[in-house]
Amino acid sequence: MPDVEKKSVQHFIDGEFVDSADGATFESISPIDNEVVADVALGSAEDVDRAVRAARRAFEEGPWPRMSAAERGAILYKLADLLEANRGEVANWETRDTGKPIMASSTRDIHGTTERFRFFADYAKQSLDHGDHFDSLETNQSTIVVKEPVGVVGAIAPWNLPLPMMGWKLGPALAFGNTVVAKPSEDSPITTSLLAEMFAEAGLPDGVVNVVNGFGPGSAGGAIVDHPGVDAITFTGSGVAGRAIMAAAAPTLKKVALELGGKSANIFFADADLSKAVPGSGMAIFGNSGQMCIACSRMFVQRPIYDQVVEMTAAMAEKLPIGDPRDPATMMGPVINTEAVERIQRYIEFSTEDGARLVAGGYKLDGEFAAGNFIKPTVFADATNDMRSCRDEIFGPVQHIIPFDTETEALKLANDCDYGLGGAVWTTDLGKANRVSRSMRTGFVWVNGYARHDDRAPFGGYKQSGIGREGGKYSEEFFTEQKGIEFTY
Ligand code: NAD
Repeated sequence: MPDVEKKSVQHFIDGEFVDSADGATFESISPIDNEVVADVALGSAEDVDRAVRAARRAFEEGPWPRMSAAERGAILYKLADLLEANRGEVANWETRDTGKPIMASSTRDIHGTTERFRFFADYAKQSLDHGDHFDSLETNQSTIVVKEPVGVVGAIAPWNLPLPMMGWKLGPALAFGNTVVAKPSEDSPITTSLLAEMFAEAGLPDGVVNVVNGFGPGSAGGAIVDHPGVDAITFTGSGVAGRAIMAAAAPTLKKVALELGGKSANIFFADADLSKAVPGSGMAIFGNSGQMCIACSRMFVQRPIYDQVVEMTAAMAEKLPIGDPRDPATMMGPVINTEAVERIQRYIEFSTEDGARLVAGGYKLDGEFAAGNFIKPTVFADATNDMRSCRDEIFGPVQHIIPFDTETEALKLANDCDYGLGGAVWTTDLGKANRVSRSMRTGFVWVNGYARHDDRAPFGGYKQSGIGREGGKYSEEFFTEQKGIEFTY
């Protein structure tokens, strides 16, 4: 559908789609061909202020925080149903806006969002009714603990998984009774706006979720973080932005949750089942064109299987169907923008300069794909953990393979990293899997698998990969205040 169409994206404030107060706009560019895909309202501090006032009013005077969790949950379920009913339109725009293969935007991304709404709707119904209760019989006192919403939440999302990341924020924020000012990434504004079209029909009262578009510092993102009417910031994005947000939130002492970047390790022991490990870890680096916080971009392979794994990984990278993401057979599309192409190409040069051996890819696609941002899946062998490409988050389809001899050495290398978000271990020895996964300094480890995540489990980073955890009770801790009330008899 929307190949020739251009979208007009406005802010959504207090239940209405509106332009910026000063009429400013910016363009969203498709990475498929670098053509303009949308004209987008460019939010300023004034627009954010309107949105925060609406959210504040909805919080202090409106029904939302006062509804039962079951009533709010029914609305979240309706929102999930509506998103599913509009799957085709939403997925087409997402693919055009971000270059993500339609096979992912129409399935995994929609599902990953609707399930967050449904999961937190159910979770809040159970958990909000179960606060702690402490009796002090000697003094005739009892204390109950009640969970209350934090207030107005600023939700700032990245472009790599626009809807699922928004779902991780809106799902729990709303289920626990907060109101929200949301800002999608400037690189992927369209689908959050499409979601906003469904709010009223789902039954969300005006002002409960407001969406302001724009950039980060000095724009809508910075204004949300600075605003004294915002009580908490939930942010997913880069470490650079996370550090700036933490500093900017300090003067108003906002609660901050930061989900940041990663440089995850993928450890292959000699006893691994390679028929599963190689394809599994292929998607751990080439899925979403390598643009995943949990990308396992450092692959440590035990020496007896090293040559075989290098050969299999290179062959898989060469064969991966890369191309127009609107084609259902495409598994890898372009990277998000021309700056990303330049960054990835710079790191490919660094790897060669630093002595790694290129065994697959290493170039931008030409010919029919020349106008877009397509990077051939790239694999370097004989890398070392101290190379620039093995220290920094490249955020592109570039794998580095590093040999090791012993379990101790693998762990030392894996943990020698500024980040600590994800990681994978491939082995048929369960004792080893247990030892290694527990010793990895990282927020989540997959053993003989990759990327699945139970919504009840914690997700988040050690070290420079972030602060806080998302998922079940971990999200509840962030999106609620816990209040003690003591009764004296
Ligand atoms: P980014 O940090 O450039 O931008 C993310 C969002 O923050 C955007 O909406 C942007 O406008 C806004 N922003 C940037 N600076 C800001 C500031 N100072 N104040 C307020 N808002 C600001 O990140 P990106 O390029 O959109 O996303 C890629 C990054 O996100 C990668 O580092 C990736 O690892 C990370 N990420 C992490 C997770 C996770 O769960 N840990 C998930 C997805 C992506």
